[in-house]
Amino acid sequence: MATPGATAPDLATRLETVSVGVADAAREAGRDPAEITTIVVTKFHPLSMIEALYALGVRDVGENRHQEAQSKAAELAKLDLTWHFVGQVQGKKARQVRAYADVIHSVDRDSLVAALASAESTIDCFIQVNLTDDAARGGVDPANLPALVDTVLAAPGVHLLGLMAVAPLSAGEGGEEPRRAFARVRNLGEQIRSQAPAATALSMGMSQDYAAAVLEGATHLRIGTAITGNRPAFS
Ligand SMILES: *Cc1c(COP(=O)(O)O)cnc(C)c1O
Repeated sequence: MATPGATAPDLATRLETVSVGVADAAREAGRDPAEITTIVVTKFHPLSMIEALYALGVRDVGENRHQEAQSKAAELAKLDLTWHFVGQVQGKKARQVRAYADVIHSVDRDSLVAALASAESTIDCFIQVNLTDDAARGGVDPANLPALVDTVLAAPGVHLLGLMAVAPLSAGEGGEEPRRAFARVRNLGEQIRSQAPAATALSMGMSQDYAAAVLEGATHLRIGTAITGNRPAFS
């Protein structure tokens, strides 16, 4: 564990390194880096790290566990942060997640859409697509995507931004390269364009594969350890 005095410059350096990496990948893809939002995934890290990131200019943070996200968002309500919920959402917790999250990246089933629907306010969301054969990884099977898009479009108060995906682990899940997996997501995004012309965003790319995601059109990167350093052990 680094001493507190040594942590801040490390964080700044890692943030800058990723920012340069994103800009390089964008240039290679002929894209404007300004159209890409980097979400710093701060799960398991303390509030102090989010405050340090804020001081460095970060405004988009991601969390994947409901209780942790809920308490962090409450503690830091004074900061103008955009909270992205990137983990799986339990149906019975959906309304609580909706209360603090600005964007939910993991809508993957009709029952969750129903739980998120509201006549009073609108929540931005992504539909998560499962790129593996393992249902436990979350996400809708691509074959069922068009039907889920229709469900979201029909639900009041649920605004579809686009698609989210996690690349398969390179070992043990068919070994699909991240870039190929992201190309599939890009294609799925093009396919739903006829149903949802405005749902053009793509949330994909993490610490190990964000450059490949940028090359395949990612608009939202979810980056944890490359910026935060290793996550503290779960206690
Ligand atoms: C933890 C997490 C990330 C960030 O992962 P890193 O490999 O640390 O960059 C991105 N997306 C989701 C859904 C996550 O749970």
